[in-house]
Amino acid sequence: MAIIISGKEVSANVRAEVKAACEQLRTKGITPGLAVIIVGDDPASRVYVNNKKKACADVGFVSEEYALPAETTQEELLALIDTLNRKPEINGILCQLPLPKHLDEKAVINAISPLKDVDAFHPSNVGRIMIGDYHFLPCTPAGVMELIHSAGIDVSGKSCVVIGRSNIVGKPMAMLLLHENGTVTICHSRTRNLKELCSSADILVAAVGRPKFVKADMVKEGAVVLDVGINRDENGKLCGDVDFAEVEPKASYITPVPGGVGPMTIAMLMKNTLKAAMLQNGID
Ligand code: NAD
Repeated sequence: MAIIISGKEVSANVRAEVKAACEQLRTKGITPGLAVIIVGDDPASRVYVNNKKKACADVGFVSEEYALPAETTQEELLALIDTLNRKPEINGILCQLPLPKHLDEKAVINAISPLKDVDAFHPSNVGRIMIGDYHFLPCTPAGVMELIHSAGIDVSGKSCVVIGRSNIVGKPMAMLLLHENGTVTICHSRTRNLKELCSSADILVAAVGRPKFVKADMVKEGAVVLDVGINRDENGKLCGDVDFAEVEPKASYITPVPGGVGPMTIAMLMKNTLKAAMLQNGID
């Protein structure tokens, strides 16, 4: 029987810390501000944006939403980002991805000022993470690390396997585990001996995007299993990349879906926005 690491609990603690720090900042006349840009009417993006706005209100931040029509041009979007880059009341800028196909995501990410890039997707922030000298960490991998710490798990010297190599989850996740002295292997769609590699892991992170992909025979007895996936199963029910029912009896710690990594992402976004407000006001 594994210990369930509750993202609900840990994220509530992170948010409470951010809220307390925000109250302190307000006594200095500073209220952190987050601008959220959404282009088009993707229903999942709408839910994410609403949750981000609500989280801002809960911790005492100001949030501004810029809901742009799907036919917005690249020039219009870049002009808005330029305005927000210069707006002192806005400390963090987030452009909800994916963007409609005619827009260039890379150019949009590059246009956000690195000091306001609270998603930590800008190449300059990605580079800083690589060398371990960063302001912000990407929210989802940072949330996974927070869960690992909350459970008192020491990464140092452990064999860590990350399944997935995306820029927003897999790659930075591997880097954060490496920063904590894990021995890290990144697996992906072309990995040949996936089962063998996964079942050697003391810490296994699944960021694949395939429902219940990780089965019991891919997990070592006593492993720590962190499930980043958000998928729907054959009955339309929310599930992770890990087959929880099969894997839980074998693991020592495991995160559930929902209620695991998911709630951490927004909590870490709040933490990054607070940090951005502090940096921009010369408070460290
Ligand atoms: P992605 O599609 O960009 O990347 C998936 C990765 O999985 C790829 O690198 C690919 O090489 C690897 N992969 C695919 N099939 C594989 C296979 N058969 N064997 C081994 N590796 C394989 O996805 P992403 O953006 O990294 O997201 C991954 C999952 O995490 C998705 O379910 C997504 O919804 C979820 N996610 C959750 C949060 C959160 O807040 N909890 C945030 C971001 C993403």
